[in-house]
Amino acid sequence: MGVESVQALVLQVEAGERRALAQAVTLIESTRTDHRKEADVLLSELSAKAGKSVRLGISGAPGVGKSTFIESFGNYAVQQGRKLAVLSVDPSSALSGGSIMGDKTRMETLSRNPNVFIRPSPAGKTLGGVARRTREAILLCEAAGFDLILVETVGVGQSEVQVASMTDMFVLLLMPNGGDDLQGIKRGIMELADLILINKADGDLQAAAKRTVAEYQHALHLLQQRTPGWSVPVETCSALEGLGIENVWGKITAFCELRQAQGSFDIQRTQQLREWLWSETSESLLDALRSEPNLKDLLPIVEQEVMQTRMPVSVAVRKLIAAFLQTSNK
Ligand code: GDP
Repeated sequence: MGVESVQALVLQVEAGERRALAQAVTLIESTRTDHRKEADVLLSELSAKAGKSVRLGISGAPGVGKSTFIESFGNYAVQQGRKLAVLSVDPSSALSGGSIMGDKTRMETLSRNPNVFIRPSPAGKTLGGVARRTREAILLCEAAGFDLILVETVGVGQSEVQVASMTDMFVLLLMPNGGDDLQGIKRGIMELADLILINKADGDLQAAAKRTVAEYQHALHLLQQRTPGWSVPVETCSALEGLGIENVWGKITAFCELRQAQGSFDIQRTQQLREWLWSETSESLLDALRSEPNLKDLLPIVEQEVMQTRMPVSVAVRKLIAAFLQTSNK
């Protein structure tokens, strides 16, 4: 791309041009070494402009109504004067190479709105890889003036943890419950939630939605409060009919105001940066180790030794690290 065009891209992103932003996100997603260098320049230039937003994580099982909700909620947010970016972390692309979320065209009306930027999940080799790029994409969107960032995920636990670690508030979307279980939602995911929404509270499902609210309120009672002064609300909404969206907006605003007043909003962001530094360091070290040409022969041998139980894992790890340090010192 060249230094001059990276500089031009910086200016275009700062000016809020959506096409430039899309190009910038593509650049940070690239695994080519020369692209990575350019991405680093881009991030260094733009990071100072980032941060002025509310970052919301949204999660829910496939079919619960995430895209319908984001469409409805997103339109409302834009009417309130926000500029909205929607990013997704799709663990399925890491697991199978396919995608639960990305295959169909989603959020069509929203994507046509000039104040909205929607970016599907890249097909990463690992979930960590996808999440790494999403953190950077958040910064780029903020530098482009988007002040409400939705990070959407569908997953089995790990992706929710990742998304919660890069957002200010985590919203869990559920459906009215037919049976008596808690929809197989793991306790760990419920513990991440700052707001629980029972979607599809319309038509015949209204009564079931009310029952589901009571069930989750009860389940939440058993959990410890994470934010002082905030009992995680369980609310109903209908994304399809646009019911309850204003109430959801009110809850989100109230939560952010409370955290800001307590000072914990900024503290959490600072802690997230520290966690990001260390997770990025360990992932980058691992990448470097795996792609080190001098270790090409050693890696499969050590792997086999471990798999055949001829070498304990701890010994193998020390051997690999020692070999890696030796080659990188040369
Ligand atoms: P996602 O897979 O979580 O993104 O779910 P979608 O947004 O694609 O919705 C799955 C299905 O549920 C679609 O047929 C939607 O029309 C329907 N749906 C979504 N929200 C609602 C709602 O509030 N009420 C009702 N009745 N159906 C909904």
